[in-house]
Amino acid sequence: MIPGARLIILGRQGAGKGTQCTRLSRHYVVPHISTGDMLRAAVREGTELGKTAKAIIDDGGLIGDEIMIGLVKERLSRGDAMSRGYILDGFPRTVGQADALVEFTAEQGRMVDVVIDLDVPRERVLERLSSRRVCRDCGTNYTATGTERNGWSCDVCGGDVVQREDDTPESISRRLDLYESQTEPLIAYYEERNELVVIDGFGHPDDVLARMIGAIDLRKRGGSAAAGSR
Ligand code: ATP
Ligand code: MG
Repeated sequence: MIPGARLIILGRQGAGKGTQCTRLSRHYVVPHISTGDMLRAAVREGTELGKTAKAIIDDGGLIGDEIMIGLVKERLSRGDAMSRGYILDGFPRTVGQADALVEFTAEQGRMVDVVIDLDVPRERVLERLSSRRVCRDCGTNYTATGTERNGWSCDVCGGDVVQREDDTPESISRRLDLYESQTEPLIAYYEERNELVVIDGFGHPDDVLARMIGAIDLRKRGGSAAAGSR
């Protein structure tokens, strides 16, 4: 039997969290819980949450902690996450969200195995984000080269591959600023809890994945967090 895992992935917009979390989710056979994907699905379905969230997302702002905490707690309480674990992508993003998650996992008696900071500098992610395209239906990420035909469809599910409405230069810059002010403090937060491993997110996706799995497995075997880092 493949053992599960409970992971939190931090990292700037465009650091490769979505790509790596999809792969990690297959490797450990645990759900990939992306709050961005959950919110985009709510927008598509036109739910109350989606209606509230759309303008904030397009503008590059953050949805309130209370809503996000409720959404994630509900998802983490389902059977798959309770029994095998999860990969959290895009949550927590503020100290308030992190505090709520620590409290929740303590109540459940299931603490996270490791928090990974997937580190890619700001200059590099800016290049990646401008050429990013995404499947509207399943969220698979692609990189545009400029030679694509119109009506690009997804290799995985056949859905439409489009540019995200929040991947405009203004929204990208606002999100990166918010990452620095609201989310970067979580790196020190988890370091103090001795749960953090920093992984260099630059390089071929296969190499980055191998580095992540190496660090996670070491940590799950009880190795020190620092030994798995760069
Ligand atoms: P990436 O480029 O890696 O996908 P991102 O931050 O641009 O990262 P998502 O994680 O997909 O994009 O999130 C999209 C938007 O959804 C965010 O800009 C924000 O408005 C909202 N959002 C997602 N997660 C949260 C959260 N935990 N707290 C508040 N708002 C959130
Ligand atoms: Mg993402």
